[in-house]
Amino acid sequence: MGELQIEVFGHASVLFTINGKNIYLDPYGEVCSFEGKAPADLILITHNHYDHYDKKAFSKITTPKTLFIVSSDVPKVNSKYTVLQNEEACDYEGIHIKAIAAYNVKNMRSDGQPFHPRGVGNGYIMYFNGFTVYIAGDTELIPQMKSVTYSDIAFLPKNLPYTMSDDEFIEAANLIKPKFLYPYHYDDIDVSKLKKFLDLGITLVEK
Ligand code: ZN
Ligand code: ZN
Repeated sequence: MGELQIEVFGHASVLFTINGKNIYLDPYGEVCSFEGKAPADLILITHNHYDHYDKKAFSKITTPKTLFIVSSDVPKVNSKYTVLQNEEACDYEGIHIKAIAAYNVKNMRSDGQPFHPRGVGNGYIMYFNGFTVYIAGDTELIPQMKSVTYSDIAFLPKNLPYTMSDDEFIEAANLIKPKFLYPYHYDDIDVSKLKKFLDLGITLVEK
């Protein structure tokens, strides 16, 4: 399928380019205006929070041909819209894309409800001819992560109270054992501290 290029914009926004296709993840205007960026062939949205579903941001890269793959809580923006529930999958241009659960286990709002309830938001795993990229979404360490072990690349979130603490992030990374680990969705990061606790064989990618 050729080389996979990855452009990290910050927060949860990423661009994957492969085989001439531009696949954006959660484009968010706070980290990039997206003005003049390559038009999107596909946009993946993990859930409807403003930092993931940002209409103004994705309108800058959307064309009439742009396809969307989204979680069930995202409003329908055009007809080229595929909703994936957790564990559902679809194929796009030779890429198999599966929705993985993403939810809070411990971190709750003051009313006792989780920031991310189970069964709503998605993480995604993309299978490029045997090469796998796991995008965790807004989640804590969950049992479903066992299904994505040995991903070639994993994006894991790290910020409290919405996703994982440093310790939980390390535990999740050591469970998944990706070859390349991209921390994302973080406020601050101590790369040297994280590296110290990661299993050998995991390369932490610094932005
Ligand atoms: Zn969220
Ligand atoms: Zn978020």
